[in-house]
Amino acid sequence: MATVTIENITKTFGETLAVDDVSFHIEDGEFVVLLGPSGCGKTTTLNMIAGLEKPNSGRISIGGKRVENVPPDKRDIAMVFQSIALYPHMSVYQNIGFPLRMARVPKAEMAERVQSVANLLRIEELLQRKPHELSGGQRQRVALGRSVVRDPAVFLFDEPLSSLDAKLRVEMRVELKKLHERLGATFVYVTHDQVEAMTMADRVFVMDLGGLLQIGSPDDIYRLPTNMMVAGFLGNPGMNLVAGRLNGGGDGLHFESNGMAFDLPSQFSSVATPGDPVTLGIRPENVVVGDGPNGASVTGNIFATEPVGSDLYLDILFVEENDGMRLFKVRARPELKVRSGEQVPLNLPYDKLYLFDNAGYRIYPG
Ligand code: ATP
Repeated sequence: MATVTIENITKTFGETLAVDDVSFHIEDGEFVVLLGPSGCGKTTTLNMIAGLEKPNSGRISIGGKRVENVPPDKRDIAMVFQSIALYPHMSVYQNIGFPLRMARVPKAEMAERVQSVANLLRIEELLQRKPHELSGGQRQRVALGRSVVRDPAVFLFDEPLSSLDAKLRVEMRVELKKLHERLGATFVYVTHDQVEAMTMADRVFVMDLGGLLQIGSPDDIYRLPTNMMVAGFLGNPGMNLVAGRLNGGGDGLHFESNGMAFDLPSQFSSVATPGDPVTLGIRPENVVVGDGPNGASVTGNIFATEPVGSDLYLDILFVEENDGMRLFKVRARPELKVRSGEQVPLNLPYDKLYLFDNAGYRIYPG
């Protein structure tokens, strides 16, 4: 087991700044997810930990030892990728045992270790099969087994579930979490899927444009996103964001946008100066259809409805100043009887509102 520390890492590819002065520390045995949109620098960061890319500048330590000049196979890491490269002519047993054979581990010990990994991943009955006789999920388990059998200190995962179908992804999320608990190893996991991050990580490192935006537990970054990008990226669907302005003075503050206007109670008065442009945020699951106490009342025009079985999502149409039509998502009860084109009363509870400043940073709650 080992810690992973990177300090002031920068990596460019020609003119592209892929990773921009990133620093973080991962505790021994932690499950960390690097989360961010495509191209934000997650894979490059992971590859630098693995030794597959060399940083232009900065320091990388694994288990407290500097590794910038240590080749990948000497870093005590295992990498698990999205594309599962099993040897097609070898059985599952031989695939899992391959790294041990390369390391000249005695046959009896190899048999014991492969068996124990197969038990751990519940693939004992598959050991004699060839890869083409396995399902996608089983192949991914075998690939995992081949990493686990080496007993590395750090596991590096690069979107390992993205080629699996939705049901298998859900199953494998649980498996990976359990595997992490059983092994107690350090897991660094790259994904753009916020559900994977929320469900598996001890801590999530949110990246964008080569930089780190926020580090925190899934709950922290969900409840207190540092800026609008994190707010919109987390949650399914993400937070509703409405650009507007705070107006008012002696008689209190009002939020006004093109299509939505309401008074704000006194707890908001210290967060911004009247006249300031702000963006209002509220999560779809926190909007109440109907009336309610302690919230702003607005009327929404239903543009479309999206039933998903357990919930009914309403796409509410508000018009914004510069970018035209904006849809505002509301999670409603599935039995709600509404139709497109209908007007519905909505309540936005004050204790569920967020405000972001002109630069996109959260200013409420503080
Ligand atoms: P994705 O989820 O799409 O894999 P990512 O967040 O992992 O994205 P990276 O693969 O780290 O992002 O890429 C970061 C930036 O660096 C991107 O702009 C990408 O185009 C660029 N980049 C990555 N690898 C190379 C390379 N070998 N040569 C040139 N540019 C690269």
